[in-house]
This record gives sequence, C-alpha cells and structure tokens, in this order.
Amino acid sequence: MDIKRRRTKKVSCGDVKIGGDAPISIQSMTNTDTRDVKKTVEQIKALERNGCEIVRAAVLDLEAAQAIKEIKKNISIPIVADIHFDYRLALEAINSGVDKLRLNPGNIGDAERVRKVVMMAKERNIPIRIGVNAGSIDKKIIYKYGKITPEAMVESGLEHVKILENLNFEDIIISLKASDIKLTLESYRLMAKKVDYPLHIGITEAGTIKGGTIKSCIGIGAMLLDGIGDTLRISLTGDPIEEVKLGKEILKSVGLRDFGINLISCPTCGRTQIDLIHLANRIENKLSTVNKPLTVAIMGCAVNGPGEAKDADIGIAGGKGSALLFKKGEIIRKIKEEDIEAVLLEEIMKM
Ligand code: SF4
Repeated sequence: MDIKRRRTKKVSCGDVKIGGDAPISIQSMTNTDTRDVKKTVEQIKALERNGCEIVRAAVLDLEAAQAIKEIKKNISIPIVADIHFDYRLALEAINSGVDKLRLNPGNIGDAERVRKVVMMAKERNIPIRIGVNAGSIDKKIIYKYGKITPEAMVESGLEHVKILENLNFEDIIISLKASDIKLTLESYRLMAKKVDYPLHIGITEAGTIKGGTIKSCIGIGAMLLDGIGDTLRISLTGDPIEEVKLGKEILKSVGLRDFGINLISCPTCGRTQIDLIHLANRIENKLSTVNKPLTVAIMGCAVNGPGEAKDADIGIAGGKGSALLFKKGEIIRKIKEEDIEAVLLEEIMKM
C-alpha cells in the first residue's frame, strides 16, 4: 500500500529539493569542529559515501562561518549552517556560500538584524529551517500552556514563521523536535494541518545507537506512515554515519525510497533445517553495497517460504540440508546447503 504524502511547498537546498514530490532526503550533522576544515571535510565525505544527502554543521563563531567556504569546495552535497543567537554568523555563512540556514529568526536579535539576514538569504535563494526544540521553547509560551504541549511547540514554530512571512520570505522548512515521541508526533501532526511548508522530521536526543534506533523508528516511522515528512535527520549518540544508514533503512522499510536490496527473512522455527540465521546475515552483508532494487527472501522452509515471499524477486526456501531457489514465488531448482550463498549471490548479480 502506498503512503499518501502530505502536499507541501517545494524549496531548494543547493541542488537538493525539499518538499513537494521530491524524495524525502536524508540529513546528518557533523560532530567535528567546523573550523577544522580537513576533519570536517573528511567526515562529510564519509557521510556522502554512505548516502547522506544534506549535511549540517554547527557554526559557533566567525571562523566557523568562514570555514564553510573552504569546506564547500571539497564536498558535493549541500551544507546547512546551524546558527543560534548571532545574526553576524548567519551573514558570514551566507557569504561563504552556505546552502541553507538553520536558525530561529526570533532568536537572532532585533528586527533590523533579522531583516538583514532574511533579505540576504532571499537574494541568494537560501532556505531557512526553523527548528523548534522542546528544550528551548520561549517561557511565555510554556507559561500559557502550563507545560510543553504540541500546541506550545506549534505556537513557537508559527511565531518564527510569522517573522519570516512578514518579510515576504517563504522558503521555509520547519522542525518540531522533542525527545518524547508522542509529543513530537502530535506536534508535527498539528503543524501539518496549519501550514504547507515542508517539514524536517526527527526525534531529537533520541539516545545511543540501540535506544535511539528504536525511538527513531517508532517516531519517524509513525510520521512517515501519516504522510508527514519531507526531509529527515536521525539523532544518535554515535558516529553520524549510523544516522544516515538508519535513515535509509527507515525510508526503505516504509517503501518511500529505494536504496538497493530489500532483504526479507523468516524468524526461523522448528521447521528450519539449515543454518538460516548465519546465511541471512552473510547475504545481508554481501548485498549491502549492491544497488539493485530487488527484494530478496531468505526463508527457512518450503512449507511457508515461497508463499510468504511470493512478492520477492528472488529467494530461497530451506529444506533438509538444502534449499529451493525461487524467483517471483516460482521454484526454479534445488541447491545444496553449502552452495546456497554462492548460487543466490550469482543469480542476484545476473538480475
Ligand atoms: S518460513 Fe518456515 S522455517 Fe521460516 S519461520 Fe516460517 S515456517 Fe518456520
């Protein structure tokens, strides 16, 4: 079943489109010192190789804003400057050729400063992401709602949106992140009803790779299934490459992007008579860099295997020390257990 994506305005971040019918893009954030051009470029290159499509870097001072110029020369994906409080950093980042700004206009000073940044962004076609974070909502809004609620998150976001709209700036992307999954989900659902700007989704401060993966899959998965989300960033306490890998897996799992092989495998049970667990893991590893849009089924038995995997392009159904090779649910031939891996990989490569 296809997901019906929410209709949103399309904005450009360098040569990546966000919103509208553009594929949901995968972002990550560097954790190097942005001023260290060499290390930052190295990390971005590694992120690119793993499928990152937009990268964000923290801009803490003028030197970091200037470093973006050099960084940009050495990378091929758009870069976003993450800025808080200081409008001069935004101006400098724009001067350095940044592709997008992440800043909350209500937090960068008086109206004249905001106007300067917004006008310059407009002139250079640079979108601005308003990033509401549950941890930094204006006290007056929290006071109004008594605590941080989805309504408070949305009101905070719309305050910043208004500032930009009043300056006739509409290349806006919004995020409403919290570490609480339900709060995040309800905030995005509410915002989706109020505006048609693209939404950057994620569960912030989700945690370590294990815990954060679970939270992100639930939260981001729920939003995507609701048709919400135009670009995403997974937040994990770990190597940012893991964020990109997980982002791809989530999008692949809900059928919104095609990133190579989709592997399905049975959980194994008393009917399994081959070493299916190791086989599935080895096949997954070997196919991780194969960029073919194929569904591969690794099933334990011939009773349920072909039936359960009838939509797969190719697969095996285990037997006693052997397996049946099938394509499109049809049995093709029998293979000895020791040959399964090689035969399956060879057949996949031929497809
Ligand atoms: S496919 Fe067969 S072996 Fe695998 S779980 Fe189902 S019944 Fe068990």
